[in-house]
Amino acid sequence: MTSIGTPLSDTATRMLLLGSGELGKEVAIEAQRLGVEVVAVDRYSNGPAMQVAHRAYVIDMLDPKALRSIIEKEEPNFIVPEIEAIATAELLGLESESYRVIPTAKATQLTMNREGIRRLAAEELGVKTSPFRFADSEQEYRAAIEALGLPVVVKPVMSSSGKGQSTVRDAAEADAAWRYAQKGGRAGEGRVIVEGFVHFDYEITLLTVRHGGETTFCEPIGHSQVDGDYRESWQPHPMSETAIDKARRIAGIVTGQLGGAGLFGVELFVKGDDVWFSEVSPRPHDTGLVTLISQDLSEFALHVRAILDLPIPRIEQLGPSASCAVIAEGDGDAMQFTGVDAALEAPGTDLRLFGKPEVRGRRRVGVTLARDETIDAAREKARAAAAAIRVRF
Ligand code: AMP
Repeated sequence: MTSIGTPLSDTATRMLLLGSGELGKEVAIEAQRLGVEVVAVDRYSNGPAMQVAHRAYVIDMLDPKALRSIIEKEEPNFIVPEIEAIATAELLGLESESYRVIPTAKATQLTMNREGIRRLAAEELGVKTSPFRFADSEQEYRAAIEALGLPVVVKPVMSSSGKGQSTVRDAAEADAAWRYAQKGGRAGEGRVIVEGFVHFDYEITLLTVRHGGETTFCEPIGHSQVDGDYRESWQPHPMSETAIDKARRIAGIVTGQLGGAGLFGVELFVKGDDVWFSEVSPRPHDTGLVTLISQDLSEFALHVRAILDLPIPRIEQLGPSASCAVIAEGDGDAMQFTGVDAALEAPGTDLRLFGKPEVRGRRRVGVTLARDETIDAAREKARAAAAAIRVRF
């Protein structure tokens, strides 16, 4: 039986979010709705989730001592990672001292590094993935390309949102891809994964919820990526019976191995009836922002229900839906958004502005959401809404 206390009292049920971005903000709002006390942490101040949390801390989350000191001070019932760049070895220690890490400390550790999850899926679980090699030096990198054959996709083992990632289509591009991967990794220079290019028909995110001993799947989410970063997503993406069965089987195996309770974003490539596992996030996924308009329980609401061990009797699908990222480009803070009225003019359109305090370069600052009769119409509406918004620095 789940019981929930009163925020800011001795009985509070406390959730500590590690990462305070736009996904954390929606998790915080869902937790607040159920009377959970929310503490938000990130390495910069005024992050989106901090703006809706009861308290916030700014620390380097890769620093194990800093991480432990906040956790020992706050004594959360649930530690909920929102990003990958966390001192996950410390989370393992904290979990062994009976803190609850969502979904599990092992899941956060294995998915922090592309190598951990790739080896688990391909080598231990026998799940189909793109062919791959790891390389620590330029020489190993060349040998990997030789073994796999072009085209290949090169990624730092520790990176996300396409940072340091490129596709090598002919030999002349190999040098630049190596240099870019060396610059773009979270940990600076280092190991890369070289993957054989999968000529997929489409790619999906299969949101998978582990809750109360059960596993539930959302309808598949299709998405498009630019430079490895999500720009548009839509749900439901049509799939053959065989392909969706395979996708669910893979998602069930991988999330089952990671364990614990919570929502996972399982990324898969599909060609005909063939399905390849690509990646998994043991937390809400950016392409899943579309569920803010497509489902009665969004991926964030599902994550919170799973964490609190609350029932998920049904996930209602509200109709063909789409999301489109609002991207700001430039350098500055205190942005101003104009065209918001135009963006919301069409019926069945919605918007989230994340409230990010600053932009350096290119950054996702909002997302438009739309529902319509067909996926194409919903996508068109979400794109038009995003195009109506202007960001001024
Ligand atoms: P990732 O950061 O690994 O999710 O990669 C970002 C995006 O790059 C994916 O969503 C795909 O669109 C593309 N991509 C990554 N790996 C491959 C691959 N092996 N073959 C084809 N496309 C890929």
